[in-house]
Amino acid sequence: MLSIDQIATFCKKKGFVYPNSEIYGGLGGFFDYGPLGVELKNNIKAEWWKTFVQQREDVVGVDGAIITKADVWQASGHVTSFTDFILECKKCKEKYRADHLIEDVTGIAIDSITEEEITKLISKHKIVCKKCRGELATVKKFNLMFKTNVGPLDDEKSVAYLRPETAQLIFINFKAVTDTARLKLPFGIAQIGKAFRNEISPRDFLFRTREFEQMEIEYFVNPTKLDECPYFEEVENFKINLLTTKDKNHKEVKIKDLTKITTKWHAYWLAPCYKFFIDLGIKKENLRIREHAKEELAHYASACFDIEYNFPFGWKEIHGNADRKQFDLQQHIKFSKQDLSLFDEETKARVVPYVASEPSQGVDRAFLAFLVDAYNEDNKRGNIVLKLHPRLAPVKVGVFPLVNKLDKQAYKIFREIKNEFNCIFDRAGSIGRRYARADEVGIPFSITIDFDSIKKKDVTIRNRDNTKQIRVKIKDLKGVVTRLIEGEKFEKCGKSIK
Ligand code: ATP
Repeated sequence: MLSIDQIATFCKKKGFVYPNSEIYGGLGGFFDYGPLGVELKNNIKAEWWKTFVQQREDVVGVDGAIITKADVWQASGHVTSFTDFILECKKCKEKYRADHLIEDVTGIAIDSITEEEITKLISKHKIVCKKCRGELATVKKFNLMFKTNVGPLDDEKSVAYLRPETAQLIFINFKAVTDTARLKLPFGIAQIGKAFRNEISPRDFLFRTREFEQMEIEYFVNPTKLDECPYFEEVENFKINLLTTKDKNHKEVKIKDLTKITTKWHAYWLAPCYKFFIDLGIKKENLRIREHAKEELAHYASACFDIEYNFPFGWKEIHGNADRKQFDLQQHIKFSKQDLSLFDEETKARVVPYVASEPSQGVDRAFLAFLVDAYNEDNKRGNIVLKLHPRLAPVKVGVFPLVNKLDKQAYKIFREIKNEFNCIFDRAGSIGRRYARADEVGIPFSITIDFDSIKKKDVTIRNRDNTKQIRVKIKDLKGVVTRLIEGEKFEKCGKSIK
């Protein structure tokens, strides 16, 4: 079975992801994206932005600063409660995040936990150091935010924080956005950007890092209309795998079944967030929604669901989706003393909007899920085939002259389509080697120029996933590749070659 170390090695070898500061021995929890990685990551973000902002009439975007005034994090509660407990081994001094260690050993999902509960669980389950089986020392609290100072003075007043989530930038700009964007409830504000958490034990490659990216939406509704979702019918029969707090294993259900455990608006939003992954090729059996237990819920949330992916290291959260009530806006009203309520035309009353759903998607965890899902060791071909959806593939087309004599003609075709799609030109080695290299980095379509191409003005396109080939006129290439990337059936786009 594929391991996360294999994926990390593959990513480094092929230029997707490198460990940060590696020539100086590395810096734990930080990664740099290479030439192919940056393309894949940009494609994921572009697909998300198109789906959740540009194609919708009820969502607008913002792009907030990374360093933010300490007051913001006082109001949001992060200064006092964005903490995790550390357990330290008395013998070998290894440090653990208490909730993760307990989760690993007991299988109990934990999101928020008190010091007493930790101590109780440690003794109940006889949890010891994983490395040396030593006794674990009493827990210490640790704030996960990265602190910095703004300006020349290094004093309390100059303290600011690198944002640990993008969400708060949406709340603090709420008034500015609603004043300028002419929005009427219900509506959403979205953002893609970096977030920083000084994780105690970063692990599992890109899954838990100290610098990562989020794609988030705060969806605001009138607090008296939590079940009035005009889009609900569009998604009510959409099928999902659901693990409720009552089940041992997930079951296939319909989105409408979620309304038994949360509001209509919240249930609605889980549909496009789940569908985003299915539409971009994630296998249905590897995705599920998990309901949070009441004890797991943050104090501000009235319900929360995670979208989980079946990673080589188990089912893990790639997306969190909470009903955050009016908590954040109310906190910022209290701390900033600004009026962040809105006049609702329909009810003719001022309301503090209610966040019925906060879709919070990690870019790097999505990246990892797409990569793991696409990774195939093809024994017949003798190489890896990375079956990324063509819309996500870092390079869309490889252009190959069959023999070096055809370089000039092939290069001309390459230059023409390179203006439209990210392509590579490869003339080195046998055609089989070139196909294998293309398969390994997920290039969905390979164009080969042969002697017939000169006479008949056509080329061969090879499909990465099944090695089938079609013949297409050179003049039609741009249109055909566009249709193929959009998912049109391969055989429909040209003359099949037997
Ligand atoms: P976890 O319980 O795994 O620490 P979380 O519940 O704290 O995650 P949220 O605060 O809900 O995470 O963040 C929303 C999303 O941001 C997560 O679903 C994940 O995709 C991403 N994310 C959070 N922390 C990290 C991290 N340390 N590294 C990479 N991605 C992260």
